[in-house]
Amino acid sequence: MSAGLLPRTLLGSTGMSVSKLGLGTVKFGRNAGVKYPTSFELPNDKQVREIIALCKDRGINLIDTAPAYGRSEERLGELLEQRGDWLICSKVGEEFDNGESHFDFSAQHVRRSIERSLKRLRTDYIDIVLVHSDGNDLDIINHSDCFEALHDCKEKGLIRAFGMSTKTVAGGLLTLERSDIAMVTYNSAHTVEEPVIDNALALGKGIIIKKALNSGHALDNANLSDDPVASNLRYIYRHSGVSSVIIGSINPAHMSHNIDMAIAAQP
Ligand code: NAP
Repeated sequence: MSAGLLPRTLLGSTGMSVSKLGLGTVKFGRNAGVKYPTSFELPNDKQVREIIALCKDRGINLIDTAPAYGRSEERLGELLEQRGDWLICSKVGEEFDNGESHFDFSAQHVRRSIERSLKRLRTDYIDIVLVHSDGNDLDIINHSDCFEALHDCKEKGLIRAFGMSTKTVAGGLLTLERSDIAMVTYNSAHTVEEPVIDNALALGKGIIIKKALNSGHALDNANLSDDPVASNLRYIYRHSGVSSVIIGSINPAHMSHNIDMAIAAQP
């Protein structure tokens, strides 16, 4: 295994320096109502510790979780052991109970959700909190007070930066105007949200990429002449507006390969 370390870059104008690859943790806490190619068992504590340690050793400092990822936040609170260098990104707005998602973008819910995330994560601040959009990005920003509530939480020191995990170009653009960070879907088969990344670069705002491997489906019909992890990461990193790419995995061999490919794909 290569012993190379992932480079870091500034996350927009937040002052935070993030590794170019981050660890996604849906699969740490939830295996129902997900759209991965194959079903899976939740990893045990030893397996979660192993993948966290591998990521840390290779220079990853960004970890992505959410209340909607089942027990993910609680498990990170138990298993991250030392907060140290880790930058934690969590979400507000989506809840997943009894096999169903439901959404609440009110200021009251945002505050309660952040207080609960702080307890679950066993910390007194969260680095990044994103609104977990239901797809109606503009409506959420224009007709709820969630950004105001997040701004308040930032003023109080409960969070260091905020934004939205968006699903539309218009929502991504407005998110960049009103907050610090947009999390967007981007890979070689899904390029429609690229104008958001262009705009972030112009404004000096942070961009975090989700679904870089199309939730694993990028590997379904892989062209064996080019590794799909390598080709997608090369595609993504060629845009200098990208701050970090979150890839979800509970398989250390996969994550180790992803890290090698991310290092090799840096322009
Ligand atoms: P993804 O990172 O594109 O793909 C993850 C899938 O790819 C997993 O099933 C994983 O399986 C597989 N995989 C990863 N590396 C692999 C490799 N080298 N070889 C073969 N298979 C590999 O998709 P995602 O999990 O949907 O998204 C990533 C993260 O983004 C999530 O964990 C979450 O933190 C965040 N996210 C956020 C939102 C949002 O709305 N905010 C939505 C979706 C995702 P193995 O476990 O077997 O490696």
